Order: sequence, then structure tokens, then C-alpha cells
Amino acid sequence: MHINDAVFLEDLCPKFRLRQWRKSIHRFTEKSCIYCGKPSESIDHVLPRSQGGLSTTENCVPACLSCNGDKSNENAFYWYRRQKFYDPRRAMAIRAWLEGDLRLALRLLQWANPNFKKSNKNYEKDESEYKAA
Ligand SMILES: [Zn+2]
Repeated sequence: MHINDAVFLEDLCPKFRLRQWRKSIHRFTEKSCIYCGKPSESIDHVLPRSQGGLSTTENCVPACLSCNGDKSNENAFYWYRRQKFYDPRRAMAIRAWLEGDLRLALRLLQWANPNFKKSNKNYEKDESEYKAA
């Protein structure tokens, strides 16, 4: 049976799916804002909906209310560069996220945030690879 033939609870109940999806976005970063690292309380559209940005995982990042509100409809990268908490590793992580490479995005975020839980032992090796690059 093709996976598309399966009936998922989510398909029967779009609201449930939306909630699960929002939760999963926050879970990726362990509920921390992708821009500043504070607790994420909202989902930010990197390309604003007003500019045609879609509500897809690639375009939606966990953000605190402060970053989300302050950025508003601005281009995320221009806005982010001007922030005091600007970190090029996070900027790279956002870029990777937009390209759908969540694994790379999360690694970069781990690197940017020493408090981020180190989920695997290979982490140290990965870090040195990025330093060498
Ligand atoms: Zn923030």
C-alpha cells in the first residue's frame, strides 16, 4: 500500500494536524528562539505571509514573541544582522532551515548555543569539522 493511501487522523482533523505541526517546529530547537535563543513562544514566517511566504516547515521557525514582533514584515536576514544578538552561526542555521536541511540547521544551532542539549556523542567531532571549514 502506498503511504498516500493511508488515512491519518491528521487528515480527518486539520486543527489537530496544525497543532502537531507547530509543536514539532518548537521541538526541533527544544523550544528556543532560532534568532536569539530565548524560549520560543511563537512561529515566525521567515518570508512573511504578506510577501507570499508559505506555512511550511521550511519557511516557519520557532521564535520568541519579541523577535517575531520586532521583525514583523522585514526580510529576516536584514533584520537579524542588525540585532545585538546576531550570530553568524545562527544566520547559517536559518539559511539551512529554509533550504529544508533541518539536520544542518540544528547542528549549527547546537554550535551557537552551548546550553543546547548535546544529543549525541559525535557532536564534538562535528564541531571541529565546521571550524576547519
Ligand atoms: Zn528571539
